Parts: sequence; structure tokens; C-alpha cells
Amino acid sequence: MTQDTHQKVTSIHLSRNAYLYIRQSTLRQVFENTESTKRQYGLRQKAIALGWPEERIVVIDSDLGQSGASAADREGFQRLVTEVSLGRAGIVLGLEVSRLARNNTDWHRLLEICALTDTLILDEDGIYDPSHFNDRLLLGLKGTMSEAELHVLRARLQGGIRNKARRGELVIKPPIGFVYNSEGVLVLDPDKQVQQALRLLFDTFRRTGSATATVKLFRKQGLLFPRRVHGGPQRGELVWGVLGHCQVLRILHNPRYAGAFVFGRHHSRKTVDGHSRIVAVPQEKWQTLIPGAHAGYLSWEGYEENQKRLHDSAQAIGGDRRRSPAREGPALLQGLILCGRCGQRMTVRYHVRHGCLCPDYVCQREGIEHAQPVCQHIPGSGIDEAIGALLIEAVSPVALEVALTVQQELQSRLEEADRLRLQQVERAQYEADLARRRYMRVDPENRLVADSLEAEWNSKLRAVAEAQQDHERQRQQDRQALSDQQRAAILALASDFPRLWRDPNTPERERKRMTRLLLEDVTVFRSDGIVLQIRFRGGAARTLTIPLPLNAWQQRATSPEIVRDIDRLLDNNTDGQIAAILNERDMRSGEGKRFSPSIVARIRRDYSLTPRYDRLRAAGMLTVQEMAAVLGVTPGAVKIWNRHGLLHGHAYNDRNECLYETPGNNPPRKSQGKKLSERRAAIEVPSENTKEVQCEA
Ligand SMILES: [Zn+2]
Repeated sequence: MTQDTHQKVTSIHLSRNAYLYIRQSTLRQVFENTESTKRQYGLRQKAIALGWPEERIVVIDSDLGQSGASAADREGFQRLVTEVSLGRAGIVLGLEVSRLARNNTDWHRLLEICALTDTLILDEDGIYDPSHFNDRLLLGLKGTMSEAELHVLRARLQGGIRNKARRGELVIKPPIGFVYNSEGVLVLDPDKQVQQALRLLFDTFRRTGSATATVKLFRKQGLLFPRRVHGGPQRGELVWGVLGHCQVLRILHNPRYAGAFVFGRHHSRKTVDGHSRIVAVPQEKWQTLIPGAHAGYLSWEGYEENQKRLHDSAQAIGGDRRRSPAREGPALLQGLILCGRCGQRMTVRYHVRHGCLCPDYVCQREGIEHAQPVCQHIPGSGIDEAIGALLIEAVSPVALEVALTVQQELQSRLEEADRLRLQQVERAQYEADLARRRYMRVDPENRLVADSLEAEWNSKLRAVAEAQQDHERQRQQDRQALSDQQRAAILALASDFPRLWRDPNTPERERKRMTRLLLEDVTVFRSDGIVLQIRFRGGAARTLTIPLPLNAWQQRATSPEIVRDIDRLLDNNTDGQIAAILNERDMRSGEGKRFSPSIVARIRRDYSLTPRYDRLRAAGMLTVQEMAAVLGVTPGAVKIWNRHGLLHGHAYNDRNECLYETPGNNPPRKSQGKKLSERRAAIEVPSENTKEVQCEA
């Protein structure tokens, strides 16, 4: 290998740059393993010895502190590959070159590109030319060995960790509330305040069964919760802060608080972009679970009980958090609605009214996390109705017709552009023909002229090809115009969509799916009314304002017309009579009931209508006692005379208790022995009131 070293380096290689790639996996290695870094920089001398001038040696060391396991994050390695593929590199230098890329795919790709661009590779052992089969084989082997080495190392490390974990002896970073003592045994944190905080957390959850309630209690009482700092200059220190909802859940879900040793609760997985993602593993798949391995804050049964309660309540409320698939419930905007005050996604709550499920949209995420009051709470039925009407309007024949007309207008402009592009192609073709004719006419012996004409002809031909391709590509794009059939299908939507939407047999979930096809999201804000900002899928936006829905009591309130009617009828009727009159007119109370005297009396009191008694008194009528005094008879006699028409009494209630009109100049007198019916004729006074009542009835 070394003998032919200098034969491999040619002037072509020397005319290009030398790239020295330097890498250390971790920042720690960068600081501690300085020897390796020095050796890597030392390779520069080798390049100089091979004939590269110093200023042409490019050092790529931007990957210091990056792992070599994948090229995704390694900007330096990517730059190296780019430089090599552009043919700017004559040689690539690296210490143990196979470590350039720990991932074999990356390494083989680099080898291939080096072979194609005639780039040499140099490491401490020698110099290789990847275009030679033997060298490439050797480099490939080195890469495979390197990957295998990494695998074996990792397997050994992980095997050791797993064995220790299986025995329950692995030292794992303890959660807050635990520390390792001097014998390496996990014990409760000797800090009493920390212990008390944890005990309070578990007690509160046992009492309330809710993580939110636990956060609320800590907040209400102004209690702080401990946390251990895991990095930075404060590493290992205990800090006290506000307790968060996530924190409570993390602690409740951690079996170590029940004194169990666990290993393998989480699993890290590589994603396509080279990042890793932590996935929770279900309990039955944990690698190790040893209950009662050390002291704890609660029993194993207590832990399992907590898991069950958390699981149950998560099923009750967990569904509507994210922009999630459409579910069965009737809330149309489930997962689409955003809070206009804080921007969070709102969740759905249902309540039952008149036997139907009514949605409410609630912004409560902040509230749950930090035990704050709910940000916004908006009744949903009005919103859903407004959105439904808007969607039907958006898919109306007029709206679709407008959209199609615009589309047609755009289409006609596209055709104009297409004609222009075709002219460009024709022009390019003409120029190419011209260049060909010029080339044909020149004397073949005149090489210099012939060459330059041929080059010109070639370039014109390329221009023709480009123009044609351009034209074809644009035509393909423009051809996405609508056929008549498609137009008809779209216009049919205008009648199909509202029919499907209003069909009571359409499941709520389908209605929600249709909404999702048309709408991006809806932002809602509650002020004097409910303001909805609706974003359609195509980017159009609409703002709607709908009135706030009535409260329960407002919905049950009696209509103002009926109150006015009752006020008018009270002049001449008792409660019972009014109820009969209203029922005869088929009127109903606010709750949809038939009127009864007690309902009329309640409305009269609620709306402070003047009682009939006061009205009659105001008209100067006398009570039975006053009348008796005026006439000089007993109250009983007054009533009898009234019954027989000698006096004019007006009932002020349904017990037929009356107030009496003043008898005037000719009051009835006691006259023994005369029939009451005969005496009535003498003092007949026409009563207007009774007539009016008949009219009203
Ligand atoms: Zn909010």
C-alpha cells in the first residue's frame, strides 16, 4: 500500500483541495481526549508531505461534539459530501477514516461519490483510491468493522445495564423525594419538608381523586413543591416552585413512589429524520418490576388504585383535547375551535337540556395546568347552528357558480399564456434551424469556424428542448381545468350538500367530517355577543357575530305581550277569569304550560302589576264594611243586596269578594216585606264594566 502511495497522488488530485475532517463524538471527548484531536490535526502534515500547499487544506471541524451514528445532524459531514460530489476535493483525510461515518450507509455513499469524482482517501494507515476495487473493498470492510465495533460495544454496555436492572441493582436517577444513602440504598429524602409535600400530594389525590384538585389545593394554600435540577451549574440542587398538573401526573404514574424497582417503562425510538422519540411502554411489557424493593410513599395497592382512577377520568375527559378525529358527540366544532383570548384549543363539555345533549366549548387547559379559573366558557348550540347555516350558504348554487366563473376566467388567461409560450418554442426552433444551415454552409476544412458554429447549433438545440419542455410542463399544469362532467358534479353539490346536512339520519360524525373538509378552524371570542372568526380550507375567512344565548331563566320568562295583556285584563277581571281568557286564546306560559289562576298571580307579582283590588279602590269603590256604614245595614245585608242587584259590586278575587260602587243619590233602603227582585227595578244603574268584560271574552 505504502509503496504506491505516491503513484496514486497525481497532479489532478493536487490541483484540487485536501479536506481534513475532524470529529469527536461528545463535547466531553473534545475536552478530555485532546490527544485524539491533536492526532487528527496532525494529519495536515501528511497532506503537506504529499504535496498539497498548506492554504489548500480545508479543515472541517464543525461536527466536534456530534455523534457519528447518523449524518442527519452533522452539518460538517454533509458539507464534506457536497464538496466531494462537486469534484472540488482531491483527497479526504481523517483519522481512522471509517469513523468518518459510523453509519455504513453514509460511509458507502461517500465511497461511491469519491470513486466517481476520483477523490483519494487518507488515514493513518495509508492512502486509498476508491475507484480501485481492492481499495474500495478494504475501505468497505473498515466501515463494516467500525459499525460492528460500535454494535458490540453498545451490546456489552446495554447487556450489563439490563443484567443489573434484572437484579434490581441498577442505579437510576431517583425521582424527587428519594435519595441514595451512603450504602447505595434508595431511601426517602431525609428533608422533612420534601417528604411532607409528597405525602400531601398523595393524600389530596386519594381524597379528591383528581390531579386538578390536587394542583388547586397547593395553589389555594400557597404551597410550593420541590424539584431537583438535573443540569447546568445548579445541578443536583433542590428548588421549590409551583406545582403543575403534568408534575402531579408524572408522580402519580411513577411506581417508584410505591417502593417498586422498575426498568424499561420507556423506550426510545429513532424517527426518519434522525431524532429519537420517547415512547411509554405498557406495564405488562416493562423489563423489570420488583414491588417492595425499597421504602415508598404509598403501598403498591395504593399505586394501582391511583392508576385506575387516573385511567377512568382520562377516558372521561381526554378525548377532545387535540385536533382529533371527529367523534360521535353532536358538538360540530369539536377539535376545530380555538380560544380567542389565549389561542389554546378549546375542549367540549356536554350538558342535557330538554332531553338533548347540548355542547359547551370550554378553554380550560391553562386552568387545569395551573389551577386557574376557566378562561372562556361558551354555550355551543348557537355557534353550531350559525356554522351550519354558513356552510350551507358557502355551498349554495350562487357561491359555486361564482367560483366556477372565476375558474373559467383564469382558464381563458391561461390559454393566452400558452399561445405566448408556443411562440417562444417556434422562435427557438427557427434559430436552431438557422444555426444548422450556417454550420452546413461552412467549409469543413475551416475547422475553427466549423467548431464554433457547431457549438452554437448545439446550444440552440438545447434552447429548443428547454422551451419545449417548459411549454409541455405548463400545459400539463393548466390542463387541470374542469371538464363539463366535473362542473356538473360540483354544481350538484349545491343541492346534495344541504339535503345531506339537514337529513336527521346523517350521523353527527359525518356532519363533523364535512365541516372538517370545509373549515380549517374557528376562533371564538365572547364579548357583548359571540364573535366567530372562521377560516375556510382555501384560506378565505369570515367573521360572524351571534347574540349570546339566553339564560335558563330568560328562556322560561313570559313573553312581554302576555304580560301587557294581563295588565290590561286586570282592569276588569280576576286572576281566574284572566287565565280562562288566555287559555281560550291558546296562549302558553314561558314554560309552555296552560294558564292557571296561580300562574297569572305569579306573573302579576313578578312583573309588579297593580293588583285588581288597588285598581278598584283607585276608582273610588268601597269595601263591604264602608258600604255597610254608608247604608246603615250589616255587611251581610250588603252582600245579599249585591247578589240581588241592588248594589253594583266588582269581584277583586276568585272567592267573589267584592268592592262596591258608591250607591249615588238614590241608595237602596231597608224596607221590610218587599221582595228583593221587585226592588231592583227601582234603582237600575247600567254598569259599563260588565259589557266590557263580555267584549274582552
Ligand atoms: Zn383561552
